[in-house]
Amino acid sequence: MLNIVLFGPPGAGKGTQSAKLIEKYKLVHLSTGDVFRANIKGNTELGKLAKSYMDAGNLVPDEVTIRLLESEVDKNPDAKGFIFDGFPRTRAQAEALDTFLAGRDTTIHQMIALNVPEEELVKRLLERGKESDRPDDKDENIIRNRIKVYNEQTAILADYYSSQNKYVSVEGVGKVKAIFDRLSYVIDSLNAKS
Ligand code: AMP
Repeated sequence: MLNIVLFGPPGAGKGTQSAKLIEKYKLVHLSTGDVFRANIKGNTELGKLAKSYMDAGNLVPDEVTIRLLESEVDKNPDAKGFIFDGFPRTRAQAEALDTFLAGRDTTIHQMIALNVPEEELVKRLLERGKESDRPDDKDENIIRNRIKVYNEQTAILADYYSSQNKYVSVEGVGKVKAIFDRLSYVIDSLNAKS
């Protein structure tokens, strides 16, 4: 198996790059944000609960998010591996993921962070907000709160994976194809090692 955490702040390009990576490497894309949004659309209990947090740009509580992630992984027993996008976002989530994957005789092989300066993130998200129906992309205050939450609660995960020798970062600015080539280079070198 090959399990990658694609990491970076909101607007770093995780969704865009995940879509390309799963095609090339035949992995399953698992975005907790996408699953929450599908639940909001379907008006499920989970969707109703998640919406209030998401609309404010805050994190959905760990217990809910961890349970959701685990059930999504278990829906794909034949997967060659996963690209985790937007999960883990807290230390508790990272620890839960480690334990969960260990129970399935696998692990996270690499966290790859996309490096993008903050003002570029805000610009990209406001652009995306014009075309998408995501309320959290339409308001600059909410966007800035999401980046703040990332800096305060999520960015520390770089150290978490670094201490396991599983962290690498790539430049997330430039053409989509150029960034994709950087990510592919990292994944190809992992595949070459295994
Ligand atoms: P994303 O699509 O990854 O930008 O996530 C959109 C929103 O969904 C976030 O701002 C959070 O409110 C919620 N969310 C997604 N993933 C997580 C997670 N791993 N932990 C907590 N909240 C999450």
